[in-house]
Amino acid sequence: MKVLVAGGAGFVGSHLCARLLDEGHDVLCVDNLVTGSDRNIAALVDHGRFEFLRQDITEPFTASADAVFHLASPASPVGYWEHPFMTIRANTTGTFTLLDIARRSQARFLITSTSEIYGDPLEHPQTEEYRGNVDPTGPRACYDESKRLGETITTEYRRHYGVDTRIVRVFNTYGPHSQLDDGRMIPNFIVQAVAGQPITVHGTGAQTRSICYVDDLVDGLMRAMFAPDTTGGIFNLGNPEEHSVLEWAEMIIRLTDSPSEIRFEARREDDPLRRCPNITRARQVLGWTPRIGPEEGLLRTIDWFRADMERGGTYVPSEAR
Ligand code: UDP
Repeated sequence: MKVLVAGGAGFVGSHLCARLLDEGHDVLCVDNLVTGSDRNIAALVDHGRFEFLRQDITEPFTASADAVFHLASPASPVGYWEHPFMTIRANTTGTFTLLDIARRSQARFLITSTSEIYGDPLEHPQTEEYRGNVDPTGPRACYDESKRLGETITTEYRRHYGVDTRIVRVFNTYGPHSQLDDGRMIPNFIVQAVAGQPITVHGTGAQTRSICYVDDLVDGLMRAMFAPDTTGGIFNLGNPEEHSVLEWAEMIIRLTDSPSEIRFEARREDDPLRRCPNITRARQVLGWTPRIGPEEGLLRTIDWFRADMERGGTYVPSEAR
C-alpha cells in the first residue's frame, strides 16, 4: 500500500514509518519539522520506498494514498504550551486536510488522539466509554479540546462521507527518538539521571502514569489501521502497568546506576492525578497486548539517550525550530 504518515518525522511517527517500510509499504512522510526532526528519519531517507514531504498539514496540499495516519501534533505539555495555536490547528484544520485526502483517495484513515481527552479522570482505569473530565479553558485545553474536536471531525467524515476511519487514544509512550528536552517525565528523568543532576519530581510524585514502549504502540497502530473490523473503532493503546511518578524516578535512578537525588518541585497546574488505560477492547478486537515491560523498555531507551547525549550533548534542533 501507499501509506501517508503525517507527523512521520516525530518520535512515534518515525518508528511507524520504519515499521511500514519493513512490511513492504511505500511511505510518504509528511512533517513540518516543528517538533519532529530530520534526525529521526535520517536512516530512512535513502530507502527506495520512502518519500519525505516538508509540509504543514494546516496549509492546503494534495496527495494520494491507500492509508493515512494522522500523528501530526505537538504532544508533550511543554511542546503544546510553546505552540498552542499550531496544536489547535494541527488537530482541527489539519484533520480536515488529511480527511479530505483520505476521502478523495478512498483511503483508510487513523487519527491518534490521546489519553488527555479523559482530562483529570474520575473513572479509573479509563475505558473508551468514559467521557472525561476536561477543563475547556485550562492550561492543557489547547491539546485536550483540539484532540476531542479532532475525534468529532473524524467521526463526522465517517458518518457523512463514509470514510473508513478509526480513532486511537494514545497513553504515555516513551522510547528512542523522543526529544531529550521535550520536558516529559521519562526524557527528563533519564537525561537528569545520566548527567548526575537532581531528578525533578513535580508535587509529591504520588500522581500516577502508565508508560508504553514505542514499539508496542506502533504494533497497536498497525493493527488498528490494518486489522479487519476496525472501521469506526475507538481504541485505547497504552501499557496498563501503573506506577507513581516517584516510583518511575526511583526505577530510572536504579537502572542508570545514578548518584542523582530527587528534588521535589511545584506541581503542574491541571496535572491529572491518575492515568491508566483499560485496554480490554484493543486486546479483544485487535489481539494487541504490550509485550515490552518497563525495565526492558527503559534500558533500551537509556542506551539510546546515552548515545544521543554523547553525539550531540543535547537535542540538536532542526532548522525549523
Ligand atoms: N513530571 C515530573 N517531572 C518532570 C516532568 C514531568 O514530575 O521533570 C510529572 C508531570 O508533572 C506529570 C507526569 O510526570 O505528573 C507526566 O508528565 P509528562 O510531561 O510526561 O506528560 P503528561 O502525562 O502530564 O501529559
